[in-house]
Amino acid sequence: MSRPLVKLLAKLLAVCAGAACAVAAPLPLGEIPSGGRFLVIQPHHDDHTWQYGHGGFIAKLVDAGWKGVYVRASNDEKDGSSGWGRNDQINESEAIEATSHLGIEKVVSLNWRNDHMSSIPGNELRTQLILLIRELKPDIVMSYNPWGHYDRNPDHRKVARAVGEAIWLSGFATVNPEHAEVGAPPWRVPHAYFSQRSDYGKGYEPNVAIELNAEQVARKGRAYWLHRNVRLNPATARSIRAKLDAQGLEIPELEGLDDEKATEKLQEWFMEWISRKRGEENGVEFAEVFFHVGEWRAVPGLRRYLEENVQPR
Ligand SMILES: [Zn+2]
Repeated sequence: MSRPLVKLLAKLLAVCAGAACAVAAPLPLGEIPSGGRFLVIQPHHDDHTWQYGHGGFIAKLVDAGWKGVYVRASNDEKDGSSGWGRNDQINESEAIEATSHLGIEKVVSLNWRNDHMSSIPGNELRTQLILLIRELKPDIVMSYNPWGHYDRNPDHRKVARAVGEAIWLSGFATVNPEHAEVGAPPWRVPHAYFSQRSDYGKGYEPNVAIELNAEQVARKGRAYWLHRNVRLNPATARSIRAKLDAQGLEIPELEGLDDEKATEKLQEWFMEWISRKRGEENGVEFAEVFFHVGEWRAVPGLRRYLEENVQPR
């Protein structure tokens, strides 16, 4: 088959044509499970927004009537150029603005010191998360994948592990029994959706795609740059324009915009592009992909048996 024809077919089938590209089969499209409350537990103010994050899924759940809370485990003092104390304040207020744009009702800041989380007691962080899970009774928890291949960020590793443990242990009455005395009895989380960095490391193996609509993708794009302190750096657009200019090229849509406004546009396009790419890979217009751990995780054999044998009356 000729090279142009391979390329054309690849384009038509929305798959990668290069020899180095693995052509993955589409993932199953995930339905919103039953329930109505979700909890997003992340190390930092902006971890809901990344290209591998949960921003679109959060918007989709809110559109379906769900209520959500965002937990920011660190104080984000290292993120920004305003000094530790001011960074914490700015990043917290921008987290409230950005998550609220997606429809989240509340941000809980645990305020562990940013990039110092390797030294904090894992059991203490885990107990905080168990208490939050028991108080808020989420049907879905989202976080980084506790068993992800690789993440160089110590806060990501620490929080993800604590989330994985807390999801499991929050259902046991013998774990932190004192929580019941303050009105937070054991709660079993039926669904977890984990994301993972896809821009370096060994990669990521999601098992479900969540279809998004264009409006949800647009909200995700705006929520991304609403973290202005770390995302709206005019140097981003300035350097892209300089590189294009050196080749005699330009992006007409950016003409007349200052570098900050152009950076905002570029961020939105990036979020739109990655959502469309994930969609094309999985047979829909827009999508995000995750590792879903469902309520049958402990009994996969029983799930298979029920799928094969349960029938309507
Ligand atoms: Zn982070």
